[in-house]
Amino acid sequence: MPAKVMISRKATGNDAVTDDRRINTYLGSLSSGNGSFLDELERTAVLEGVPIIRPTVRSLLKVIISGSRPKDILEVGTAVGYSAILMAGCMPKGSTITTIEKYDKRIPAAKENFKKSGYDGCITLLEGEAADILKELAGKGRKFGLIFMDAAKGQYLNFFDDVMTLLLPGGILVSDNVMQDGDVLMSRYAVARRDRTIHSRMREYLYVLTHDERLSTVILPVDDGVSVSVKQYETDKET
Ligand code: SAM
Repeated sequence: MPAKVMISRKATGNDAVTDDRRINTYLGSLSSGNGSFLDELERTAVLEGVPIIRPTVRSLLKVIISGSRPKDILEVGTAVGYSAILMAGCMPKGSTITTIEKYDKRIPAAKENFKKSGYDGCITLLEGEAADILKELAGKGRKFGLIFMDAAKGQYLNFFDDVMTLLLPGGILVSDNVMQDGDVLMSRYAVARRDRTIHSRMREYLYVLTHDERLSTVILPVDDGVSVSVKQYETDKET
């Protein structure tokens, strides 16, 4: 009999919330950390209120990158560089990371962290609005084996067309925070009025990810929800 796993969401009641916390706490407790530099960066980020990827998504990215060995990685949403440095630590030698950030205050901190981590030679930070930069990269014919989407959640859908152009066949798109702290599961009317636009945009994004024939997608209810999509090869679709 499969184990009963209840997913904690605001909508599903206190027991489910407690179970979900316990699952994530337990899974987090199994982590052996990510090295002293990243562990210290995490402590600083928490103190300063900078959002960074949560523990299970860190492990997921490491597994995906170690297995798929992308040559070029694109990240949308650098913050202070935690996830870019984490990915750099497990990508194959000679691979690159291009990461996009628009928040002026975080850009110098990220650059400093890249330098201190020793990965500044393989990480390029592009400063500015992701919607513009993605379009520019797509126009230049750039291609990536892995795209990590971790910026403003309401904009994922706007980025989607360019992201599909940028993703290589066989490439993997990982989108973080797709559960919106459980709001995505709730009816539009149960969500605070100010959150309704983002709620419907995230639902639409998840619908697109799961119904676009070019993609094969799984949505995992770990941490704040993460989706993993693989872009199919054209030839595989035809056969
Ligand atoms: N990936 C980072 C990590 O785990 O270390 C965390 C990224 S944080 C959740 C999201 C970042 O995306 C913020 O620093 C925010 O300023 C940036 N961001 C949000 N919307 C953006 C946009 N449209 N263009 C560029 N950056 C954006």
